[in-house]
Amino acid sequence: MNWITRIIKAGEKIKTAIHKRATKEDIANSDWMSCCKGPQQKIIFENNMWVCPDCNEHHKINPKLRFAYLFDDGKYEILDTPSPVDDPLEFVDSKPYKDRLKAARKKTGLKCSMVVATGKIKDINVTAFASDWSFMGSSIGQAEGEAILFAVQHAIDNKHALLAVTSGGGMKMQEGLFSLSQMPRSVLAVNELKKNKLPYIVLLTNPTTGGITASYAMTGDIQIAEPNALIAFAGSRVIAGTVKESLPAGFQRAEYVQKTGFVDMIVNRKDLPDKIGTLLSILLKKHPAQDQTSEEDDVSNESLTVKTKEAS
Ligand SMILES: [Zn+2]
Repeated sequence: MNWITRIIKAGEKIKTAIHKRATKEDIANSDWMSCCKGPQQKIIFENNMWVCPDCNEHHKINPKLRFAYLFDDGKYEILDTPSPVDDPLEFVDSKPYKDRLKAARKKTGLKCSMVVATGKIKDINVTAFASDWSFMGSSIGQAEGEAILFAVQHAIDNKHALLAVTSGGGMKMQEGLFSLSQMPRSVLAVNELKKNKLPYIVLLTNPTTGGITASYAMTGDIQIAEPNALIAFAGSRVIAGTVKESLPAGFQRAEYVQKTGFVDMIVNRKDLPDKIGTLLSILLKKHPAQDQTSEEDDVSNESLTVKTKEAS
């Protein structure tokens, strides 16, 4: 072995050692994460609702944390949602869909990416649903669709306002038409909610794309977004390739999408409970729909009818 091969072999050993240390799991379990200033201790972000204190990047959070930040005193109840048949097409790509589901369930402790909860926001009863990015990129299949329908029905039955916290890459290709059918199903469900004169607020978080944007994420009475959230249907590279033009700076980000009218307001994470509470008070004319006094209901229903007409 000459000196050159010795150096190459030593380099290979170092490379292997580095790669061994830097598995995805190790990074996720470490006390460090990366943002604009490079690696920083997670506690800095955790103490600021996982928002970067330097660049205001709103990092992804799981549904339980989301609900804890949104609901009064961090109190809420998780609701059990229906469990449709797994893997209706027995789909296999580079590995079986069943195995992907199994791994996602083990990783997150959830049965699907969508979590439904109920609680109060500024003392107003709300049913909310949010998805976990760690569960196959929050993509929507039958189970997630059923969870949305369950949330809508729960809101209608209990006369709650409905809040959708959206994120995800779109529909699950592994479930084909079964997943695509969740687009019209979720929109029809939201229409039922509106027929019942209950408010529907959508909070768009990073990233909300594909069939999610093309269905329940765009039908809110009020459309809120977190700063700099990617909100899109097709990806920007696909669009640039199709129109053969370079796209403007900030294309498909919340601030850009607001200018085109798909987002009503951009709200920082720490301000969301106050803002959502105020909006619900206005939509319900300070008489939550769950109040059963007929006179009050007449007033609140009237205001909601007007709002729904404006929104539709
Ligand atoms: Zn940052």
